[in-house]
Order: sequence, then structure tokens, then C-alpha cells
Amino acid sequence: MTTDEQKAVHPRALLIAATDDLAAAGAVEALRARMPGAGITAVTRAGSSLTADRLISAAVEGPYGFILTPHLLRELRGGFDLAWAAVGDLSSPAYRRVALLLSLARAKQKAAIGPGGEVVPLAGWLKRAGISLGLLSLLRAAWRRALAPHRRRRAQRLLHGDRPPFGLRRVNIGVSDRCNHRCIMCSEHSPYCADGLPRAESRGGRRMAAEAVLDERDFGLMDPAIYRDLIRDLRAMGCREVELCGLGEPLLHPRLFDFLRQAKAAGLWVRLVTNASLLATVGAHGNAPSLEGNARTLVALGLDEIHISLNAGTPETYAKVHGVAPSVFHRVLAAIRAVAEARRNAAPPAPRSPLQTWRGAEVRTVAPTIETSFVVQADNYREPVEWVRLVANAGVDIITFSALGAAPPGAPVQLPAEQLKEAKANVAAAVELARSRGLEVRGTFGALADSGPAFSEHLYAHMPCYIGHIFALVTASGRIHPCCACERVVGDLKDGGFAKAWRGDPYRRFREECLDLPNRLPGLDGCSCMACPYGPWNVEFHRRLYAG
Ligand code: SF4
Ligand code: SF4
Repeated sequence: MTTDEQKAVHPRALLIAATDDLAAAGAVEALRARMPGAGITAVTRAGSSLTADRLISAAVEGPYGFILTPHLLRELRGGFDLAWAAVGDLSSPAYRRVALLLSLARAKQKAAIGPGGEVVPLAGWLKRAGISLGLLSLLRAAWRRALAPHRRRRAQRLLHGDRPPFGLRRVNIGVSDRCNHRCIMCSEHSPYCADGLPRAESRGGRRMAAEAVLDERDFGLMDPAIYRDLIRDLRAMGCREVELCGLGEPLLHPRLFDFLRQAKAAGLWVRLVTNASLLATVGAHGNAPSLEGNARTLVALGLDEIHISLNAGTPETYAKVHGVAPSVFHRVLAAIRAVAEARRNAAPPAPRSPLQTWRGAEVRTVAPTIETSFVVQADNYREPVEWVRLVANAGVDIITFSALGAAPPGAPVQLPAEQLKEAKANVAAAVELARSRGLEVRGTFGALADSGPAFSEHLYAHMPCYIGHIFALVTASGRIHPCCACERVVGDLKDGGFAKAWRGDPYRRFREECLDLPNRLPGLDGCSCMACPYGPWNVEFHRRLYAG
């Protein structure tokens, strides 16, 4: 049988993937599952990475490289039953060359497959990623390639300057290291955290001595003077967002409302992360506490987003997961309703200019956006649908399902394999319900549960981590951690403030190590890089660094 005759008899698939593409290895398996027995032709960028090796060994023919030679064109036009582009991000415009090759291929079906296994037809993918294959855009891409060496030099300069190149994207400020809950999966306050050490001393001092210090008024609460200086430094360093959360419950800080006001006055986008169980009992500015009053104050302050954790669909499960009385469940739902109601009653912002008035002045949604989250685990995996129904009725805008992070050892929270399957099905049904109710879904659990460590491993085999230029976590006592998955301390606000710490040796050393991450896998000392929650931020920063 000639080669052409073989091609006519056996199903044929084509896979086009960049060698640094996270999706490539998974795509080979997915292709095999979709077309058992098919011959796979691989087109990869020349190289010898792990991903490319897997592709090469999987391919019956190829790889052919990305240079559009007459030989490659002939192969692409050879006729396939199915042709896929494996891309690391279905929304990224960076895959123009891959898209061009795919569009030139002759195949009955053409699609792109993302790292989570999502398959999108070619036209839908191009639209979603904003990729245009017109002559002008191809010329632009060629121009960008010509500028690449200059951009590499510029990136090096920016990465070693005295300021984060694009300003810090976000800083998490732990105004309170205390918490009134004892969530079973919490890395700081779970009852399973008891490790024989005083918590304030363990894990580099990140945990607080939860029960032991509740009577000491100042322990675990941020000093207002330190907060004021921190906001000043962040503003000067071009920081765009602050998230008041950290290692405990922000509503436990008596100055929280002042803190929010200061951050807004500094021009920052502000997000509050809370369990919201105390929203009815804290007093804003000495007023008698009231749920409605506090909700109105949050809206009036201009808070941009409030994230309320509510990890159950019933009071009984809530009590088990959060380590509090079942009645608190209803209090939290009431808090969500109160913020939504206060937002509804607030007047929309006035048009900002006569031109806007003339054009009909877009009416912005009144802040804050309300998000609520559900960490899927052994106690609550049956309740996602019930939960969505409740929070949608209460008035949330965004929901997030997430997989468990680093839970305390011994905590009975992990889902065994058979329950994981059921959990995914429940979450999928809940996501569908949420979308039908008009909610935005930020995390869908499935992709995270499947590909957390694999995603990190592939990502950081091919690119550095930039988190020291993007983000920081500051605890109530003033310690600076470079990321939420690192126990390392890279500075202390009490030693001269944030800007000084950022330029200091420990922080610089950390950033150097991050740039060398591909040579330090499985990760940096004291950091859980294989369970990194910042992959997408790093990818975005990388693109920006080399794009402009
Ligand atoms: S509310 Fe947050 S900080 Fe408090 S115990 Fe639960 S997870 Fe931990
Ligand atoms: S966990 Fe590791 S890879 Fe992820 S942001 Fe932190 S230092 Fe970087």
C-alpha cells in the first residue's frame, strides 16, 4: 500500500503546538481518545522541550517545525479528518502563527484545544482570542518578531530597576491575623493546625496564636500608622489594587472602615475578603452597629468588590466546614442581601463630563461587585446546586468554585476519587444554573482539580515567575511575604516601610531566584510552586514585558 493509500484508509489527525505550550501533551492524549487508532501528525516549534519530546514520540509523522516551507505546506494540505491547535490560553492573541498554520491545513474539522481540555472550533477561537489573519496583522506580527531582541534587553532593564516595571498589580493586606471562624481547611485557623508550636512562631511566623491571644487586644491587628504608611508607599510605587484579607477576618479590626476609606482616597481599587458573619455587629465610626447601616457605609465608601466566603449550601454543613454555629449561615446570607440592597438603593454615579451627558452617559453598575466562593471538599461536595440557588437569590454577581489548596495535614477534607467525580458533576450542574441566572463564574473547580500541579510544572519549565514584581502579602504584624504560597519573609514594614523593603536584599534575592525558577524546579525554598495560584498572572506579565 502506498503512503497515499494508507492516508486514505486510516483516520488522520493533525496537531499544531508551540513547544512551550502547556496544552500540547494533554492534547495528544485527548486526540487519541477522540480518534482511537488515528495517525497523528505533529507540527511543533523546533526545540527539545519535554512537551516537544512527548509530541515527537506520539507523532506518526512530523514534527515539521513552524517555518512555512513548501514541504510543510504540502503536509498541511495532505488532508486530515481532524486538525487541532493546542494552545495554553484560548483567549490569548499570541498564537497567530499557530492559527495561520491551522487555517492553511486541509481538514474536515478544525479547532483549538486549551489546557483544561476545552475544544473550540477554529472560527470561534479566532474570535475569542481576537486573532486576525489579514495581511496587515501578519505584517504587524513580522514587525514584532524583528523587534524581539530589543524587547529582551528592555525587559532585563525593567526587571532590575528600583520599581516594579508596571506597578504592583495587587497587594493583600492582612489587617487582622485573627479570625472568628475555624474553617476546617484553613491553613491558618483550622482546628487541625495544632502542630505543637505556638502558631505565631510556626511556619515563619505566619500563623497567629489563635485561641491564646484573643484577649490581647492588639495582637494580630494592624497598627493604623503602619497601614497609613503602607498605603502611601503603595501609591508611590504604582500599585493598582489592594485586597484587605490576609490571614484572618478583616471585620475584626475596629478601624476597618477607616482603612477602606484611606485606600479609596489613595485612588486604589479595593476588594474586601470576609466571612461577613460580623457585618451586623461592627460599628462604623462609632455609630450603633446595624447590618443595613454597615452595608450602606461599604457602598458609600466606594468599595469596589466584596468577596464573601460561604462554603456550604445548608446551615449544618456550614457549621461543619466553618467551625461555627449553624445559625451563622443565615447571618451571612443576610449580609449578602444587605449589601445587594444597599447597592440597589444607592444613586448611580453622576456623569463625569458634559460629553458623557451628551452621549447619554453610560450608567455604571454601582459598586461593590459581590462575589462569593465555595471551596469544594469532603463535607460540602453534594451542595453546589443548592448553594448557587441561595446566593443567586441573595444577590451575588460572581461565584467561584475552587479546589482545596494546602489544607492542614490530617484535616479530613480531601475528596477520594469516586467522590471527586460526583463533585465535578455537581459543580458542572451548579455552574450551568449560575449562568442561566446571569451570574459570572470565575472558577469552575474542574480544571483546577485536574491540572493544578501539571499546569505549574509545564508553565515553570518554560518561563520564570515574576510574582515579586506583581504582588505581595503583608500580615497584620507587618511581615511581607512575596506570595500567598510562600512562607518566606522578604521584609518587615517596621524596618522602614514597604518601598524600602522592596529594594532590600532579601526581596531582591527572592526576585532573582524567581527569574531562575525553570532551573530550580520543583520550586523555590519555602514556596509551593507546584501548586502555584499565580500562573495566569505570571503569563500576563510575561506577555506585557515582551510585548510593548
Ligand atoms: S474565615 Fe477565612 S481566615 Fe477565617 S478560618 Fe475561615 S478560611 Fe480561615
Ligand atoms: S508559588 Fe512559586 S511560582 Fe508561584 S508565585 Fe509563588 S514563588 Fe512564584
